[in-house]
Amino acid sequence: MSINKDKASAMSEGHYAASLEAQSDSEVYDAEFEDLIRQVLTRVGEDPRREGLLRTPLRVAKAMDFLTSGYDMTAEDVVRGAVFTEDCHEMVIVRDIEFYSLCEHHMLPFFGRAHVAYLPAGKVIGLSKVARLVDVFARRLQVQERLTNQVADSLMAALEPHGVAVVMEAGHTCMMMRGVQKQNSTTVTSAMRGTFQDDARTRAEFMGLLKA
Ligand code: ZN
Repeated sequence: MSINKDKASAMSEGHYAASLEAQSDSEVYDAEFEDLIRQVLTRVGEDPRREGLLRTPLRVAKAMDFLTSGYDMTAEDVVRGAVFTEDCHEMVIVRDIEFYSLCEHHMLPFFGRAHVAYLPAGKVIGLSKVARLVDVFARRLQVQERLTNQVADSLMAALEPHGVAVVMEAGHTCMMMRGVQKQNSTTVTSAMRGTFQDDARTRAEFMGLLKA
């Protein structure tokens, strides 16, 4: 494995300087953010100048921007132009919407599935927009309970339906990888609005359809 040998010899100062120079030629995405990541790397016991880590601050900065891109969007932006008048009175359910979020306590991922239902009162929304709505709020630092409520409230505001129900089930890596280290526990949260809150039969119909 001569390649590994080369890498080992690249640990000498001269090669380091060369690789740092190469780095300075390369792309900078967010200099300040990348510098913070370099400090984190040092703090956890790493050498940010190590070859495998040279572009890590850049990648982390880009990844974090994407994972928190929900701050740059509003629910109104997402639903604009996608709400239609429709004489539909049956429950609409969008099931198994994958979502990925970051817990605000540890900034570690939590992810799972969202199930969203509404009972129309003259207005419907493009189904893909329901998934987009989940992403707007998931791509922020969150607690699952608030995320669930925000999805429900934004749909209530956009459609003024008879009711909205949102159920989210997720695994939290902050529980799986650290703390109590419970790998198989799932957190389920729900938000019921309007008829889903007031009428046990509507709620039961929704829950039944989730299991179907
Ligand atoms: Zn957490």
